[in-house]
Amino acid sequence: MKRLASGWKVSGIAVGFVPTMGYLHAGHISLVHNARQRVGSKGQVVVSIYVNPTQFGPTEDLAKYPRDLAHDKKLCREAGVDVLFVPSNAQMYPEGYSTYVIEEHLSQAMEGASRPTHFRGVTTVVSKLFNLVLPDVAVFGAKDFQQAAIIQRMTRDLNFPVKVVVAPTVREPDGLALSSRNKYLSPIQREQAVILRQSLQHARNAVAGGPVQATRLLDEVGKRIATASEARLDYVEFFNPKTLEPATVVKRGTQMALAVFLGKTRLIDNATL
Ligand code: AMP
Repeated sequence: MKRLASGWKVSGIAVGFVPTMGYLHAGHISLVHNARQRVGSKGQVVVSIYVNPTQFGPTEDLAKYPRDLAHDKKLCREAGVDVLFVPSNAQMYPEGYSTYVIEEHLSQAMEGASRPTHFRGVTTVVSKLFNLVLPDVAVFGAKDFQQAAIIQRMTRDLNFPVKVVVAPTVREPDGLALSSRNKYLSPIQREQAVILRQSLQHARNAVAGGPVQATRLLDEVGKRIATASEARLDYVEFFNPKTLEPATVVKRGTQMALAVFLGKTRLIDNATL
C-alpha cells in the first residue's frame, strides 16, 4: 500500500480514501462515489477494510463483528474502487506496538463517555491509514457525526495534508440508518429500530415552532423510547454541531445525537434539527 501510494504521489495522481470496517452496504458505497467525484476518473479510490481492535471495548462485539470479504470485494468492484486495502492485525499492530493518537476534547462526551477507549482507537488507526494511503481526500459518513468531527480536528491539529469530507447518512426506506450492525437485529428489534429516526423527527418537529428546553426534549424522547419493548436508551444529547458543546436550549440548527440498545445491539443516529 505504501509503495503504491508513494508512486501515485510522485505521478501527481489524486487519491480518494474511504476507511471502513467492512460488511459494506449502500452507505459505504455512497462514500466511494463521493470520493470518485472528487478525484475524477484519473484519480485512485482506495477503500480500507479493517476491524480495528483498539476501538472496541473489552465487552464489545469485536470477535463477532460481521465480516464478508467476498461480498465486500464484489461491491467495491461494482463501485469502481481501484484498491481494496485489507491489512492484518499483525501488520497494523506488530508486537510491541505502543503509540497512540488521542484527541482530548471532542472525544469526552457521547460515544466517548459510553465507550471510553473508542476514539483513541479510531484516531490511532485513521492516522496510520492516512500515513499508509497518503490520500488527498478522505470521506467519512455523517452517521458517525462525533467521529467525523474528531477526525477533522485531528487532521487539522496534526497537519495531515488531507481534505476530510463528511457525506450524508444513507437510510432504509423507513428511516433506519444503514449500519453493518443492523444485521444483529431480530425482526421485532428491526421493526422497533425506527425509534431512533422517529426520536430525531420528534425533536425536529418540536423545535420547528421555536426554541425548547433540552431537559423537556430529553424527557419526551426518553418516554418515547421506553414505549418500544426491546429498546433501552443509552444517551440523547443536544449540542452545537461545530463545537459539540451541549445545548441547554434546543432550536433549529442544534445537533441531536442518540444511542439506543435494541436487545444487545447498540445503534446510533443523529441529525441537525
Ligand atoms: P464503519 O464501517 O461502520 O466503520 O463505517 C465506515 C464509514 O462509513 C464511516 O465513515 C461511517 O460514518 C460511514 N457510514 C456508515 N454507515 C453509513 C450510512 N448509513 N450512511 C453514510 N455513511 C455511513
